[in-house]
Amino acid sequence: LTTYSYNISNQKVDCIFDATINQLENYAPANAVVIITDHHIAALYSQQLSAYRVITFVAGESNKTQSTVDQIIQQLILMEIDREALIVGVGGGVVTDIVGFVASIYKRGLRFGFIPTTILAMVDAAIGGKNGVNVGLYKNMVGTIVQPSFILFDYTFLQTLPEAEWRNGFAEIIKHACIRDAEMFSNLQQHQLIDYIKDAKLLTDIIQKNVAIKLEIVAQDTLEKKERLFLNFGHTVGHAIENSAQLKHGYAVAIGMAFACQLSEKIIDFNPNETAKVIQLLKQYQLPTTADLDVDMIINLVQADKKRTGKEIRFVLLSAIGDASIQAIPIETIRAQLIEISS
Ligand code: ADP
Ligand code: ZN
Repeated sequence: LTTYSYNISNQKVDCIFDATINQLENYAPANAVVIITDHHIAALYSQQLSAYRVITFVAGESNKTQSTVDQIIQQLILMEIDREALIVGVGGGVVTDIVGFVASIYKRGLRFGFIPTTILAMVDAAIGGKNGVNVGLYKNMVGTIVQPSFILFDYTFLQTLPEAEWRNGFAEIIKHACIRDAEMFSNLQQHQLIDYIKDAKLLTDIIQKNVAIKLEIVAQDTLEKKERLFLNFGHTVGHAIENSAQLKHGYAVAIGMAFACQLSEKIIDFNPNETAKVIQLLKQYQLPTTADLDVDMIINLVQADKKRTGKEIRFVLLSAIGDASIQAIPIETIRAQLIEISS
């Protein structure tokens, strides 16, 4: 088994890259495991999950709410789950965000791990310990930062992943390339999504690389004071349009990254040819780069962003492909740029 263990805020996180769900036995006996998953995964993989107790909730970002958390906690209480249990989230980013949150608050915290089943969860959501729920249109407004004990990568789950979800996850991979890794950016330019879907070696390589990028950033700055802010590239505007325009997270982030590149040209002389390269790469992976924007609604949501202080927001810009920079930008500058690109 290819296992990497990382230390984040004094907590050990194992990443097992060629795992199957059976490796759970290294962490707890089957009768101590409680799997929490969404109803799609539960239906598709009932066989694989049959050895464990399973709690299911309805899939979808709109269910990433406190009410879902409360329902899961009710079931944990009914099942008399105690602190010796191991909670395992099996699913995409919605599952990992909710399950990490539940496990970090139920009885003041139980041991937990993840088996991510989407690209997005494998390279992003399952890593870094951010857990939580949305409050209305406000994304991830309530939550905790607690690390999972382990993340098992079992690629067989990806055989049923719809192509739209592959694209969704590649938006975060392109994000990592933009902020940290020019070489990965050019590797991505040389391939199509279908190459990664078909070629297991290519896929494991890029997943491991992205996990390493994210873990390294999180290990440097778990509490998001500095380096971790880079991971918000494309996300300030992305989050604001995601819920209001009913877009998948990665699609909204793709539009947000295109916007951030254009803003980078204005503020820190990012080369317009590089903006063109980022936009071209997003299109190559069949991601959107523009949308009809409701500027007032976006500005309202941006003002509620956790990265805002007063009339400014800490915004992630690019100085070059592979190199990010944080600048405090007046909300009014963002409004002007949004108006410019939407007219
Ligand atoms: P993410 O935030 O990672 O995109 P979600 O948790 O919102 O993920 O999952 C997206 C959708 O894909 C959900 O409907 C979920 O049930 C479904 N899904 C997740 N993993 C798989 C899989 N391996 N096969 C089929 N469907 C999946
Ligand atoms: Zn994201």
